[in-house]
Amino acid sequence: MLVLVINSGSSSLKYQVRETNTQELLAKGIIDRIGDVVPDHASALEELSSRLRDELDGRTIDAVGHRVVHGGERFSEPVLVNNEIVRSIERLSPLAPLHNPASAMGIRAVHDKWPKIPQVAVFDTAFHRTLPEHAWRYALPDSLYRRHGIRRYGFHGTSYAYVAPAAARFLGIEPAEFDGVIAHLGNGASVAAIKGGRSIDTSMGFTPLEGLVMGTRSGDVDPSILIFLARQGYDADALDNLLNRESGLRALAGESDMRGIEEAADNGNEQARLALTVAAYRLAKYIGGYHVAVGGAQAVVFTAGIGENGWSFRQLVVDQLGPLGIRLDTEANLATGKQARRISTPDSAIPVLVVPTDEEEAIAEATAAVVERHTESAATF
Ligand code: ADP
Repeated sequence: MLVLVINSGSSSLKYQVRETNTQELLAKGIIDRIGDVVPDHASALEELSSRLRDELDGRTIDAVGHRVVHGGERFSEPVLVNNEIVRSIERLSPLAPLHNPASAMGIRAVHDKWPKIPQVAVFDTAFHRTLPEHAWRYALPDSLYRRHGIRRYGFHGTSYAYVAPAAARFLGIEPAEFDGVIAHLGNGASVAAIKGGRSIDTSMGFTPLEGLVMGTRSGDVDPSILIFLARQGYDADALDNLLNRESGLRALAGESDMRGIEEAADNGNEQARLALTVAAYRLAKYIGGYHVAVGGAQAVVFTAGIGENGWSFRQLVVDQLGPLGIRLDTEANLATGKQARRISTPDSAIPVLVVPTDEEEAIAEATAAVVERHTESAATF
């Protein structure tokens, strides 16, 4: 099946075309400056359609899979899109104001352009619908949950749903028997506690801001800081900007990209070293906590841009896990590649793995599976 995978943002539309039988990547690109050079999502779709005509040699798309950030409490798995589903995605917009409206616009634009092509929504939150209540509840008045849906949701679910079974396969066990801790470390970063192949806790919460130190996000802070700053005159937009775009590694090291920070640290830049240590320390604490939460992890797994490539950051983290009997194999930690691999010593109490993620492949696979299940009712938009 030829699946067009779309990640529709408010000002850009990223796409890939995947052949699901061979996992071949047939086209990939981005249409940006939507709302500026490109007037709207419908025009972006026109541009995409003309690019695909050139790039696919006359082959046509069988299905479209959309990355949707927020599935709220409703969506626990990928779904075939119809009108009611799009409205539901739009209704969840208050929980993801930058992302869900853009996803809905992308879905509508595809429907207008190619009304017969089945579309599937794949939600970043879905994999974490298995969180037990004690993990998703904030210690806040129940009315906030009932009125506003304020609870922990978790994100990066598509990546965890792909990496957890891959880690299990690497260990030679059934996915449903896998207990582990997975760290998805990209520009946004989170950790998930996996028990019996299911998510039982994760570091991102109501929004992707909670948890780890990220490229430009603070992760966990004392909420009183916000109260203090509000009293100093910061409004909601200023706080949003501060915590989501001006904090994290950017605030500590002066830049948000891990490669630049590692290079600066190697050259003796103290600010960069401190930034790495703060981020690694936070992550090590989460790994220790989730090791307890899963009742003893069978593996600690690194994935995404930094997790797969940032060997010195991995070393900083794993060096702090000594009390758990975890030992890094410094040589193996330097290896690169797209294969799952072990980076701990043979006598490490718990194996440490690098398992590459591929969210687009995961979305393409999920899309093909949903469409195959629904071939009969695929044109019900
Ligand atoms: P996104 O969240 O945007 O999908 P990625 O998973 O692509 O992000 O990860 C981006 C991060 O990975 C950046 O901080 C980047 O510096 C880091 N990264 C990529 N390659 C390397 C590398 N070779 N060494 C260290 N960090 C890397």
